[in-house]
Amino acid sequence: MTAMLIDGKAVAAEIRSEIAHEVSLLTERGITPGLAVVIAGDDPASHVYVRSKAKQTLEVGMASFKHDLPADISEAELLALIASLNTDPRVHGILVQLPLPRHIDSEKVLQAIDPAKDVDGFHPLNVGLVASGSGGLVPCTPLGAIILLKKVRKDLRGLSAVIVGRSNIVGRPMAQLLLKEDCTVTIAHRYTTDVASLVRGADILVVAVGRAEMIRGDWIKPGAIVIDVGINRVAGEDGKARLVGDVAFDEAAAVAGAITPVPGGVGPMTIACLLRNTVDAAKASSATGLSLDARYAARPTLVPPVPIQ
Ligand code: NDP
Repeated sequence: MTAMLIDGKAVAAEIRSEIAHEVSLLTERGITPGLAVVIAGDDPASHVYVRSKAKQTLEVGMASFKHDLPADISEAELLALIASLNTDPRVHGILVQLPLPRHIDSEKVLQAIDPAKDVDGFHPLNVGLVASGSGGLVPCTPLGAIILLKKVRKDLRGLSAVIVGRSNIVGRPMAQLLLKEDCTVTIAHRYTTDVASLVRGADILVVAVGRAEMIRGDWIKPGAIVIDVGINRVAGEDGKARLVGDVAFDEAAAVAGAITPVPGGVGPMTIACLLRNTVDAAKASSATGLSLDARYAARPTLVPPVPIQ
C-alpha cells in the first residue's frame, strides 16, 4: 500500500472532543444543545443507527430526545410531533430516521421540519442554500467527506473532482461542496457511459453508489485522493459477513495518494457531523435571541453559527 490512510475514526473523535468543549461552554450559559431523533417502525438497521446517535449525543454532553413510534403511526400524528419539536426550546436539531413506513410521505415530513433545526440538511431551504454556496445546514455525510478531504489537502482549488453517485443525501450535496472549493466537478451516475475513463481523470474521487468494490485500482489516477462513502455487507472467505466500500481498497491503495478505509473512513464522520450541525443550530438560535417564529420569518438567511468564547 502506498496511499496515506485517511483515518475517519480519529478525525471524528477530534470533532467530538471539540464539540464536547463547546457544549460545556454553552451549558454554562444555560443552553444545552438538544437533538431529537424520530424513528417509526421496526427496521433493525435504523434502530442500530438511532441508538448510536443517541449514545454519542449524550457522550458529548448534549440532550437527547428519542421518539420511538409504531410502524402504523399516521402521517398526521407524525406531522403533529414535528410541529411540537419545532417549537420546543430544548430541541435544536431534529432528525427523522429514514426510511419511514411506506404509507408516510417522507418529503412532506422532511419539509415540515423547521429549517433552522434541520440538522440532516434535507429541507429544500437548506438544499438551496448549500446549492447556492450561501450557507445552510449541510448534509452530514458529505460534510464529513469534505472535512476528511481538507485534512489531506487544505486547498482543493482547480482540482478535478469526480463523484460517482448523485443521491440527494450524498452525491449532489458533495458536488456543491466541491464546487464551493473551486474544484472542477463531474458527477457520474447509472447512465454515465464510461465511468472508468472519468474516474481516471480525477484528482479527487468520491464514490457513493452502494455497489461493493465497483471502482477498480486501475481506474484510479496515481496520487488521487479517494473518499469511499459506500458501505456494503459481503460474505468474507471465512463465510462471515464483512463490510467493504464501493472501491476495491487494496488495488486502489496501491495507486492513490490517500484513501479512506471502510469501515473507519467516512462512516464515523457522519454522526460526528450530525452533532456538529446540532451545536451550530443551538449557537445560531441562542445568538439571535429571537423567537423561533421570528427566525422562521427571517428566512432564507439562516443566522450563521457564532463562535463562542
Ligand atoms: P443511492 O442508492 O441513493 O444512490 C446511489 C447512486 O449511485 C445513484 O445516484 C445511482 O445512479 C448511482 N449508481 C448506481 N449504479 C451505478 C453505476 N453502475 N454506475 C454509476 N453510478 C451508479 O445511495 P446513497 O447515496 O444513499 O448511498 C450510497 C452508498 O453510500 C451506500 O453504500 C450507502 O450505504 C452508503 N452511505 C454511507 C453513509 C455513511 O455514513 N458512510 C451515509 C449514506 C450512504 P442513479 O441516480 O442514476 O440511479
